[in-house]
Amino acid sequence: MPRVRTRRYVALQLLRETREGHSALREPGFPMRVIDPGHVYALENLDGERDNLLTFVKREGPGYPGNVGHFPGTTTQDVLRCLIERTKYVDNQIHDEANDAVLADLRDAIWALEERAARRHGRTFDVPVEGIEDLPTCGKCHHIGCEGGCR
Ligand SMILES: [Zn+2]
Repeated sequence: MPRVRTRRYVALQLLRETREGHSALREPGFPMRVIDPGHVYALENLDGERDNLLTFVKREGPGYPGNVGHFPGTTTQDVLRCLIERTKYVDNQIHDEANDAVLADLRDAIWALEERAARRHGRTFDVPVEGIEDLPTCGKCHHIGCEGGCR
């Protein structure tokens, strides 16, 4: 009798595989897996078998409680910029009013993240939301509005 794979069963298998550091199971309905919480995610590739790894920067030190290990990677803001660019691209292919709402929310997310960063670093943050994805960022910390006074 074939074993029925429930969502819970599949989730437990995925968790076990993540702990063992390999991936063999890919089930529909679980398009993203956490490899290193907060830092590395395996995204499902359409039209392909291999995972698409998304890696966020991981740093250690007093400003990064709980982090063990470090490696280079991207930021949430840069991923949001990619999503904005992609949304503009697909909207140019086939326009849909929903894309306007998506773009507004993605820009709001960048704005909130940058406002948070500015507050933590004692800077004021006064930039418009519209077009925020195109504003220049600091070469060191990659935040909008920092003029190199970081670190
Ligand atoms: Zn900076």
